[in-house]
Amino acid sequence: MAEIIDGRAMAQKLLARTAEQVKAIEARTGQAPGLAVVLVGSDPASEVYVGRKISQCRKAGIRSVEHRLPADTAEQDLLTLIDALNEDATIHGILIQLPLPKHIDAALVLKRISPHKDVDGFHPVNVGRLSTGTGGLVPCTPLGIMMLLDSVIEDYRGLDAVVIGKSNIVGKPVAMLLLEREATVTVTHIETKDLPDVTRKADIVIAAAGAPHLVRGYWVKPGAVVIDVGITRVTDHDGSTRIVGDCATHELEHARAITPVPGGVGPMTIACLLANTVQAAEMANDD
Ligand code: NAD
Repeated sequence: MAEIIDGRAMAQKLLARTAEQVKAIEARTGQAPGLAVVLVGSDPASEVYVGRKISQCRKAGIRSVEHRLPADTAEQDLLTLIDALNEDATIHGILIQLPLPKHIDAALVLKRISPHKDVDGFHPVNVGRLSTGTGGLVPCTPLGIMMLLDSVIEDYRGLDAVVIGKSNIVGKPVAMLLLEREATVTVTHIETKDLPDVTRKADIVIAAAGAPHLVRGYWVKPGAVVIDVGITRVTDHDGSTRIVGDCATHELEHARAITPVPGGVGPMTIACLLANTVQAAEMANDD
């Protein structure tokens, strides 16, 4: 029977630790860490994510400041807001909820955020730091994935890890973090030939494709650790909807451990966002 790695419980622990750090920062500096959350437009999924992030901030004592902008906001107006937030000493983290409307260049916007306030870890400076192993703010989902893995793996040296998906927000950064730990990492994607043959050799499988139940039982060797990052909303025959991951979990009983969907990577992502905000506040106070 595969161990189910409880992301919710781990996220609660991380949130409690973050709340303690927030208190300590407030006692030392007279100011709680501040996170600016910017939402452009009213994408329903984005609304839900932003709502969750703000409510968790509140629980941890982080001051969140919401900026809701209409979908037709000009790119320059968004850049001007970011400039103001970069200058604002009460704001330690800036989060731009993605996706942005099509008329806005997301890469340009993310590059405008000060690397010191880039709590999503998407700025090229932080991407560079991650790939050279020189600190910086690390993207939240990969950070959470490593914490989930750390709960079942002590030593990564020489382990074979396969990452399915090569996005900038999950696949590539998690591959970098695994490399830092001396795992042997293979990054795969939609064009990879005979993917099951690749994953079958892995000690660690990170499934981040957004393809429901892609990873079947025969894709995974006995004793492997599987992290299911996928989140896809599917509609059942009766019209009801539910969230499913990238793994056919019921076929993976021979794995050593697996994360559930929901309740695995998702809660850790938000908890890591708050941890990054605290890290950004600590960095600002050290300056
Ligand atoms: P993306 O669409 O940017 O990238 C998907 C990657 O998977 C691409 O590299 C693509 O080549 C690859 N891929 C797609 N289908 C494939 C297939 N059939 N076989 C092999 N490779 C395939 O996605 P993303 O932003 O990295 O997100 C991936 C999934 O993770 C999505 O379901 C997303 O909702 C989820 N996600 C979850 C969290 C969380 O907090 N739990 C955070 C971020 C993303």
